[in-house]
Amino acid sequence: MVDLSFNLRKLKKESGITLKELAERIGMKQNTVSNWFTGKRQPRIELLPQIAKVYGITVDELLKEADEIQEYTQKCDTDICGQRFGRLVAIRRSSGVKSKVKWFCKCDCGNETEVLITSLMCGNTRSCGCLRQGTKQGHKIRHEGRLYKIWKAMRTRITNPNTSCFEYYGGRGIEICDEWTESYEAFHDWAIDNGYSDALQIDRINVDKGYSPNNCRWVNAFVQMNNTRRNHYIEYNGEIRTVSEWARELGINRTTLNYRINNGVPPDIAIEKGLQSIGK
Ligand SMILES: [Zn+2]
Repeated sequence: MVDLSFNLRKLKKESGITLKELAERIGMKQNTVSNWFTGKRQPRIELLPQIAKVYGITVDELLKEADEIQEYTQKCDTDICGQRFGRLVAIRRSSGVKSKVKWFCKCDCGNETEVLITSLMCGNTRSCGCLRQGTKQGHKIRHEGRLYKIWKAMRTRITNPNTSCFEYYGGRGIEICDEWTESYEAFHDWAIDNGYSDALQIDRINVDKGYSPNNCRWVNAFVQMNNTRRNHYIEYNGEIRTVSEWARELGINRTTLNYRINNGVPPDIAIEKGLQSIGK
Protein backbone atom coordinates (compact mmCIF):
# COMPACT_ATOMS: atom_id res chain seq x y z
CA MET A 1 0.00 0.00 0.00
CA VAL A 2 1.23 3.46 -0.87
CA ASP A 3 2.13 6.05 1.77
CA LEU A 4 -0.68 8.56 1.79
CA SER A 5 0.45 10.83 4.62
CA PHE A 6 2.29 13.35 2.45
CA ASN A 7 -0.64 13.57 0.13
CA LEU A 8 -3.16 13.95 2.93
CA ARG A 9 -1.16 16.77 4.52
CA LYS A 10 -1.04 18.54 1.19
CA LEU A 11 -4.78 18.13 0.67
CA LYS A 12 -5.43 19.45 4.16
CA LYS A 13 -3.38 22.54 3.46
CA GLU A 14 -5.02 23.16 0.09
CA SER A 15 -8.59 22.54 1.17
CA GLY A 16 -8.48 24.05 4.66
CA ILE A 17 -10.51 21.06 5.91
CA THR A 18 -9.47 20.31 9.50
CA LEU A 19 -8.74 16.85 10.90
CA LYS A 20 -11.85 17.13 13.05
CA GLU A 21 -14.02 17.95 10.07
CA LEU A 22 -12.62 15.09 7.99
CA ALA A 23 -13.07 12.65 10.89
CA GLU A 24 -16.69 13.71 11.34
CA ARG A 25 -17.53 13.49 7.66
CA ILE A 26 -16.24 9.94 7.27
CA GLY A 27 -17.41 8.80 10.71
CA MET A 28 -13.99 8.06 12.22
CA LYS A 29 -12.28 9.12 15.44
CA GLN A 30 -10.05 12.18 15.18
CA ASN A 31 -7.15 10.21 16.69
CA THR A 32 -7.35 7.60 13.97
CA VAL A 33 -7.43 10.23 11.27
CA SER A 34 -4.51 12.02 12.88
CA ASN A 35 -2.40 8.86 12.58
CA TRP A 36 -2.96 8.80 8.82
CA PHE A 37 -1.59 12.31 8.56
CA THR A 38 1.57 11.54 10.52
CA GLY A 39 2.07 8.34 8.54
CA LYS A 40 1.80 6.13 11.62
CA ARG A 41 -1.19 4.29 10.19
CA GLN A 42 -2.87 3.85 6.81
CA PRO A 43 -6.60 4.23 6.21
CA ARG A 44 -8.42 1.02 5.22
CA ILE A 45 -8.97 0.65 1.49
CA GLU A 46 -12.78 0.76 1.89
CA LEU A 47 -12.44 4.27 3.32
CA LEU A 48 -10.57 5.72 0.34
CA PRO A 49 -13.68 6.63 -1.70
CA GLN A 50 -15.10 8.54 1.26
CA ILE A 51 -11.85 10.37 1.90
CA ALA A 52 -11.50 11.26 -1.78
CA LYS A 53 -15.09 12.53 -1.80
CA VAL A 54 -14.41 14.89 1.10
CA TYR A 55 -11.63 16.55 -0.94
CA GLY A 56 -13.66 16.43 -4.16
CA ILE A 57 -11.20 14.18 -5.99
CA THR A 58 -11.23 10.59 -7.26
CA VAL A 59 -9.57 7.63 -5.53
CA ASP A 60 -7.20 7.44 -8.50
CA GLU A 61 -6.11 11.00 -7.90
CA LEU A 62 -5.67 10.32 -4.22
CA LEU A 63 -3.37 7.36 -4.98
CA LYS A 64 -1.67 8.65 -8.09
CA GLU A 65 -0.32 11.56 -6.18
CA ALA A 66 1.08 9.24 -3.57
CA ASP A 67 2.70 7.14 -6.30
CA GLU A 68 4.60 10.17 -7.45
CA ILE A 69 5.77 10.89 -3.93
CA GLN A 70 6.88 7.29 -3.62
CA GLU A 71 8.76 7.59 -6.90
CA TYR A 72 10.39 10.74 -5.56
CA THR A 73 11.43 9.01 -2.35
CA GLN A 74 12.81 6.11 -4.37
CA LYS A 75 14.74 8.56 -6.50
CA CYS A 76 16.35 10.02 -3.39
CA ASP A 77 17.51 6.53 -2.53
CA THR A 78 19.31 6.13 -5.88
CA ASP A 79 22.98 5.16 -5.85
CA ILE A 80 24.60 8.15 -7.57
CA CYS A 81 28.18 7.09 -6.81
CA GLY A 82 30.46 8.29 -9.60
CA GLN A 83 27.84 10.55 -11.18
CA ARG A 84 28.75 14.08 -12.13
CA PHE A 85 26.69 17.14 -11.16
CA GLY A 86 28.37 20.25 -12.59
CA ARG A 87 31.84 20.26 -10.99
CA LEU A 88 30.86 17.72 -8.36
CA VAL A 89 31.26 13.97 -8.54
CA ALA A 90 29.37 11.97 -5.91
CA ILE A 91 31.76 9.68 -4.04
CA ARG A 92 29.85 8.15 -1.14
CA ARG A 93 26.54 8.37 0.65
CA SER A 94 26.59 10.31 3.89
CA SER A 95 23.62 10.71 6.23
CA GLY A 96 19.88 11.16 6.07
CA VAL A 97 16.84 9.33 4.79
CA LYS A 98 14.23 10.01 2.09
CA SER A 99 14.53 13.55 0.74
CA LYS A 100 17.19 14.38 3.36
CA VAL A 101 19.76 11.96 1.96
CA LYS A 102 23.20 13.58 1.63
CA TRP A 103 26.24 12.60 -0.43
CA PHE A 104 29.91 13.40 -0.07
CA CYS A 105 31.09 14.90 -3.33
CA LYS A 106 34.50 15.67 -4.76
CA CYS A 107 34.70 19.01 -6.53
CA ASP A 108 36.89 19.57 -9.62
CA CYS A 109 38.82 22.12 -7.56
CA GLY A 110 39.86 19.40 -5.09
CA ASN A 111 37.51 20.24 -2.22
CA GLU A 112 35.18 17.72 -0.68
CA THR A 113 31.67 18.74 0.26
CA GLU A 114 28.43 17.25 1.61
CA VAL A 115 25.30 17.94 -0.44
CA LEU A 116 21.61 16.98 -0.32
CA ILE A 117 20.78 14.56 -3.14
CA THR A 118 17.76 16.69 -4.05
CA SER A 119 20.02 19.75 -4.55
CA LEU A 120 22.28 17.70 -6.83
CA MET A 121 19.42 16.28 -8.85
CA CYS A 122 17.61 19.52 -9.44
CA GLY A 123 20.83 21.33 -10.32
CA ASN A 124 20.84 23.76 -7.39
CA THR A 125 24.31 22.73 -6.21
CA ARG A 126 26.96 22.30 -8.87
CA SER A 127 30.21 22.98 -7.02
CA CYS A 128 31.72 23.22 -3.52
CA GLY A 129 31.09 26.95 -3.76
CA CYS A 130 34.04 27.70 -6.01
CA LEU A 131 31.76 28.29 -9.02
CA ARG A 132 30.17 31.23 -7.27
CA GLN A 133 33.62 32.66 -6.54
CA GLY A 134 34.26 32.58 -10.27
CA THR A 135 37.54 30.71 -10.07
CA LYS A 136 37.40 28.78 -13.30
CA GLN A 137 39.66 25.75 -13.10
CA GLY A 138 41.12 24.25 -16.24
CA HIS A 139 40.66 20.49 -16.29
CA LYS A 140 41.15 17.86 -18.95
CA ILE A 141 37.96 16.86 -20.73
CA ARG A 142 37.59 13.16 -21.40
CA HIS A 143 35.62 11.91 -24.38
CA GLU A 144 33.52 9.48 -22.39
CA GLY A 145 30.50 9.24 -20.11
CA ARG A 146 26.86 10.27 -20.45
CA LEU A 147 27.47 13.86 -21.58
CA TYR A 148 29.74 12.65 -24.39
CA LYS A 149 27.07 10.17 -25.47
CA ILE A 150 24.47 12.95 -25.57
CA TRP A 151 26.79 15.03 -27.77
CA LYS A 152 27.44 12.08 -30.09
CA ALA A 153 23.73 11.15 -30.36
CA MET A 154 22.91 14.80 -31.09
CA ARG A 155 25.47 14.96 -33.92
CA THR A 156 24.42 11.60 -35.35
CA ARG A 157 20.75 12.36 -35.70
CA ILE A 158 21.54 15.66 -37.40
CA THR A 159 24.30 14.57 -39.75
CA ASN A 160 23.77 10.86 -40.49
CA PRO A 161 20.92 10.21 -42.98
CA ASN A 162 21.02 6.50 -42.08
CA THR A 163 19.67 6.90 -38.56
CA SER A 164 15.98 6.31 -37.95
CA CYS A 165 15.38 9.84 -36.69
CA PHE A 166 17.41 11.74 -39.27
CA GLU A 167 14.33 12.76 -41.19
CA TYR A 168 12.93 14.52 -38.15
CA TYR A 169 16.11 16.34 -37.23
CA GLY A 170 18.77 16.80 -39.89
CA GLY A 171 16.23 16.08 -42.60
CA ARG A 172 13.95 18.83 -41.31
CA GLY A 173 16.68 21.42 -41.19
CA ILE A 174 17.40 21.19 -37.47
CA GLU A 175 21.05 22.13 -37.12
CA ILE A 176 23.77 22.22 -34.50
CA CYS A 177 25.71 25.45 -34.17
CA ASP A 178 29.23 25.28 -35.65
CA GLU A 179 30.89 25.61 -32.27
CA TRP A 180 29.23 22.43 -30.97
CA THR A 181 29.57 20.51 -34.25
CA GLU A 182 33.30 20.98 -34.27
CA SER A 183 34.13 20.74 -30.61
CA TYR A 184 32.93 18.45 -27.87
CA GLU A 185 34.90 20.65 -25.47
CA ALA A 186 32.77 23.67 -26.39
CA PHE A 187 29.58 21.67 -25.79
CA HIS A 188 30.99 20.25 -22.55
CA ASP A 189 31.92 23.71 -21.19
CA TRP A 190 28.52 25.13 -22.07
CA ALA A 191 26.87 22.12 -20.37
CA ILE A 192 28.84 22.47 -17.14
CA ASP A 193 28.36 26.24 -17.00
CA ASN A 194 24.65 25.82 -17.55
CA GLY A 195 23.89 23.33 -14.84
CA TYR A 196 24.50 19.96 -16.48
CA SER A 197 24.17 16.91 -14.24
CA ASP A 198 23.70 13.23 -15.01
CA ALA A 199 20.11 13.53 -13.80
CA LEU A 200 19.19 16.14 -16.42
CA GLN A 201 18.32 15.99 -20.11
CA ILE A 202 19.07 18.41 -22.92
CA ASP A 203 16.01 20.26 -24.10
CA ARG A 204 15.50 22.52 -27.08
CA ILE A 205 13.40 25.47 -25.92
CA ASN A 206 11.90 25.89 -29.41
CA VAL A 207 11.55 22.44 -31.02
CA ASP A 208 11.65 23.93 -34.52
CA LYS A 209 15.04 25.50 -33.87
CA GLY A 210 18.42 23.84 -33.65
CA TYR A 211 20.99 23.00 -31.04
CA SER A 212 22.81 26.09 -29.83
CA PRO A 213 23.56 27.74 -26.49
CA ASN A 214 20.62 30.10 -27.06
CA ASN A 215 18.04 27.40 -27.72
CA CYS A 216 19.11 24.69 -25.29
CA ARG A 217 18.80 24.08 -21.58
CA TRP A 218 19.11 21.21 -19.11
CA VAL A 219 15.84 20.05 -17.64
CA ASN A 220 14.91 17.74 -14.84
CA ALA A 221 12.50 15.01 -15.82
CA PHE A 222 11.16 14.78 -12.31
CA VAL A 223 10.58 18.46 -11.75
CA GLN A 224 8.87 18.66 -15.12
CA MET A 225 6.75 15.66 -14.33
CA ASN A 226 5.67 17.29 -11.07
CA ASN A 227 4.89 20.61 -12.71
CA THR A 228 2.65 19.02 -15.28
CA ARG A 229 1.12 15.98 -13.65
CA ARG A 230 -1.20 15.26 -16.54
CA ASN A 231 1.67 14.80 -18.97
CA HIS A 232 3.80 11.72 -19.20
CA TYR A 233 7.40 12.69 -19.90
CA ILE A 234 9.78 10.22 -21.46
CA GLU A 235 13.44 10.30 -22.34
CA TYR A 236 14.75 9.39 -25.78
CA ASN A 237 18.31 10.04 -26.97
CA GLY A 238 18.95 12.14 -23.88
CA GLU A 239 16.03 14.43 -24.57
CA ILE A 240 12.81 14.68 -22.68
CA ARG A 241 9.34 15.33 -24.13
CA THR A 242 5.79 14.26 -23.48
CA VAL A 243 4.47 11.17 -25.22
CA SER A 244 2.30 13.43 -27.39
CA GLU A 245 5.24 15.64 -28.34
CA TRP A 246 7.39 12.65 -29.34
CA ALA A 247 4.50 11.18 -31.33
CA ARG A 248 3.93 14.46 -33.16
CA GLU A 249 7.61 15.12 -33.73
CA LEU A 250 8.39 11.65 -35.06
CA GLY A 251 5.07 11.06 -36.81
CA ILE A 252 4.22 7.91 -34.85
CA ASN A 253 0.93 6.78 -33.32
CA ARG A 254 0.43 8.34 -29.88
CA THR A 255 -2.11 5.81 -28.62
CA THR A 256 0.13 2.86 -29.47
CA LEU A 257 3.14 4.62 -27.95
CA ASN A 258 1.20 5.31 -24.76
CA TYR A 259 -0.04 1.74 -24.63
CA ARG A 260 3.45 0.27 -24.97
CA ILE A 261 4.92 2.56 -22.32
CA ASN A 262 2.06 1.95 -19.90
CA ASN A 263 2.70 -1.77 -20.34
CA GLY A 264 6.29 -1.49 -19.29
CA VAL A 265 8.09 -1.25 -22.65
CA PRO A 266 11.13 1.03 -22.09
CA PRO A 267 10.46 4.44 -23.76
CA ASP A 268 13.33 4.22 -26.27
CA ILE A 269 12.24 0.78 -27.46
CA ALA A 270 8.60 1.89 -27.64
CA ILE A 271 9.67 4.79 -29.86
CA GLU A 272 11.90 2.59 -32.05
CA LYS A 273 9.00 0.16 -32.51
CA GLY A 274 6.74 3.05 -33.45
CA LEU A 275 9.26 4.21 -36.04
CA GLN A 276 9.60 0.68 -37.41
CA SER A 277 5.85 0.28 -37.80
CA ILE A 278 5.68 3.33 -40.06
CA GLY A 279 8.64 2.06 -42.02
CA LYS A 280 11.29 4.38 -40.64
ZN1 LIG B 1 35.17 23.49 -5.90
